Amino acid sequence: MLDATWFSEAQEPSGSAFSLKIKRKLHEEQSEFQFLEIYETEQFGNLMVIDGCTMVSTRDNFFYHEMMSHPVLFTHPNPKNVLIIGGGDCGTLREVLKHPGVEKAVQIDIDERVTRLSEIYFPELCESNNDPRAELKFIDGIKWVKDAAPNSVDIIIIDSTDPVGPAAGLFCADFYKDCFRALTENGIVVQQSESALLHMHILQEMRGEMRAGGFNHYQTVFFPQCIYPSGWWSATMAGKNAFTAFREQDAINKGFDTVYYNHEIHKASLAMPEFFKKAFA
Ligand code: SAM
Repeated sequence: MLDATWFSEAQEPSGSAFSLKIKRKLHEEQSEFQFLEIYETEQFGNLMVIDGCTMVSTRDNFFYHEMMSHPVLFTHPNPKNVLIIGGGDCGTLREVLKHPGVEKAVQIDIDERVTRLSEIYFPELCESNNDPRAELKFIDGIKWVKDAAPNSVDIIIIDSTDPVGPAAGLFCADFYKDCFRALTENGIVVQQSESALLHMHILQEMRGEMRAGGFNHYQTVFFPQCIYPSGWWSATMAGKNAFTAFREQDAINKGFDTVYYNHEIHKASLAMPEFFKKAFA
């Protein structure tokens, strides 16, 4: 059994667990919505944990934040208005604002404490929070989208916790209907869609709920994410219209730094594993 110098997240349903060796616990608090912990680890920098689940580490968050942002932004023909639901650590916001064509990025996280802790323990993820194009609000994303003006956002990025607790409603048809109405003609929603190895039932339920919400065009992208269950993660895009080829030349000439994403990774991330093809044939 691991001793107290390890943080472990047991994923009971999959009979697996993930552990990081820690130096010390830096902070913990019960916010209005969730239990937040911050650790200093031996090899992964700082680690944020929400309700016992790993959220973000200094060392490997680039996989997730880059793949939640750049594939969808380079798939849309000309994204100007972007909405991020969740994303309280602000890493996705930072990636979105690397795109010079983006004129407005609104981040809606239900829990302000996540952002305030990220500002202290992950300042590098918050470096774009004062960009004049950025707007941070701390309310329920479900309510915000319900009240959003029709035809008002080009891209919605749902960077939420797992489909439990305050995030459960972000995986339901009623929410997707509101997203569909808020999106512009070529609008695309992208949502973190868990692990295809461990959570195919969630991916299949999500597709069904998205379809009930009015979406008929989907693309799932796959990428590594060490600190999440199985280490293999996904994000699912749903479009109002059929997806055209992504803007590969723009991705080649992106003009900003990334650690993982490039146009080859973008292409490769669209390749569907055989079991996945069969599940959605
Ligand atoms: N990368 C993480 C993952 O895939 O699990 C997500 C990171 S981010 C910290 C998740 C955020 O979703 C949290 O800050 C949480 O407060 C937020 N969240 C959960 N439910 C929400 C809701 N209904 N509206 C807005 N934000 C929500």
